Amino acid sequence: MRLVRVLSVASELYPLIKTGGLADVAGALPAALAAKDVAVRTLLPGFPAVLGALPAASLLHRFSDLFGGPARLLGAEVGGLDLLLIDAPHLYARPGGPYAGPDGIDWPDNARRFAALGRVAAAIGRGLLPGTEPDIVHAHDWQAGLAPAYLHYAPGRRPGTVMTVHNLAFQGQFPPDLLGELGLPPGAYAVDGVEYYGSIGYLKAGLQLADRITTVSPTYAAEIRTPEGGMGLDGLLRARAASLSGILNGIDTTVWDPATDRRLEATYAASDPAPRAANKAALQRRLGLAADPHALLFGVISRLSWQKGLDLLLDAVPALLAAGAQLALLGAGEARLEAGFTAAAGAHPGRIGVQLGYDESLAHLIQGGADALLVPSRFEPCGLTQLCALRYGAVPVVARVGGLADTVIDANEMALAAGAGTGVQFAPVTRDALEAAIGRTASLWAEPATWRSVQRNGMATDVSWARPAARYAALYRGLLSESASSSASAPAARSSVINGASSTA
Ligand code: ADP
Repeated sequence: MRLVRVLSVASELYPLIKTGGLADVAGALPAALAAKDVAVRTLLPGFPAVLGALPAASLLHRFSDLFGGPARLLGAEVGGLDLLLIDAPHLYARPGGPYAGPDGIDWPDNARRFAALGRVAAAIGRGLLPGTEPDIVHAHDWQAGLAPAYLHYAPGRRPGTVMTVHNLAFQGQFPPDLLGELGLPPGAYAVDGVEYYGSIGYLKAGLQLADRITTVSPTYAAEIRTPEGGMGLDGLLRARAASLSGILNGIDTTVWDPATDRRLEATYAASDPAPRAANKAALQRRLGLAADPHALLFGVISRLSWQKGLDLLLDAVPALLAAGAQLALLGAGEARLEAGFTAAAGAHPGRIGVQLGYDESLAHLIQGGADALLVPSRFEPCGLTQLCALRYGAVPVVARVGGLADTVIDANEMALAAGAGTGVQFAPVTRDALEAAIGRTASLWAEPATWRSVQRNGMATDVSWARPAARYAALYRGLLSESASSSASAPAARSSVINGASSTA
């Protein structure tokens, strides 16, 4: 099989920099694709956390001016990942996260910071690094959304382009008067270009101009074509439905492996999850919960936001307590939710344990020790925590939306009869339905043999990247064979000119 070279363009990558699932995907997919004869290089902004983690980097190119200052393109290998980093101190050398300062407020020049990402990606796509030209430029989320646009508006041959949406809620909209500075031609500011409700839309640009669009589950791919789920982009996505597909995420089964996980009190195999009891006890101790092996222990690992539906869980606390259950919650986010769960923990000591903040190690202990994992999201493009939960034997209890609908098999009577259920789903996403799901979960818990079979089914589910990687590889190859057969027209024949990032070799 011919090797396909892909330039993956992302603003996060586990383990170097992460705010959410995008980082997990960008970090884990390359290794899985290598097994399918797809070689992935990943282009990342040179945030301090990224550059600081590099053992050694080689200088590949210098830009004399990349949106207001000089920049360097560096190459490095970290943990088997082939990385390209944009070292542009005027854009990235700042404290805080990738998008906002320590005060949580977005940087005012994010338009430039992420236009730089798209522009360098496009330059690489058009041969900046001879001998390693990518066949495909694969842009992730709005931060990389201008890459397909720069490639579209540049003259000459270009690689195939793929735009993946990890969350349609984040769209990257900026004032229209930036167009010239971005180096896009005036004609790009149009409905079939980068214009989006009177702004420049980075995600919109990528969705409009990439050859293929993917999102991270088949159900989310359908939801975002509806007015309810489309967040303003459903019309475009309906128009491009033939180029849109949903490919589920996997998880890194070396990072998430209960048989070897050193963050657990006790490791265990799918064939014998009994040692989970020691993790449950450790989790109860850690969060101040009563040391009760018989209480049904629900876990939550989540950003605390409206999307994740945790306000509904707060409302459902009395029902959860009435079912005799405990709750172990790890999360960070909206102040009212942080305050709400802290207050609930204070009001119900021994029954509700809360840790605010981001804590990888506690996340692993919750997966390895909780009996069930709650994910009551209002919308969920794919969701990763329920995949980890399946592998770790924490029975997922999820809203029937997006990727949650696609990854958990509801343990209804017929699924149980078929030996197929892996969790509990509920719909609609309301307090009542969530309470009913908690009640159903408690009924399953009360039947240990049934519980064990649901848990076993989940643990036997392949949640690795193997199947998703095969689908991405097929998508890339399909796109390449299509552009080869129409090579006289498509990618090559672009007429408008953009100002390339000025560079010196
Ligand atoms: P999203 O990307 O919308 O936040 P996902 O379920 O796709 O949700 O991915 C979330 C990832 O972040 C998972 O790997 C999860 O374990 C992790 N995570 C979320 N919140 C925390 C937290 N407070 N501490 C540690 N890990 C967290």
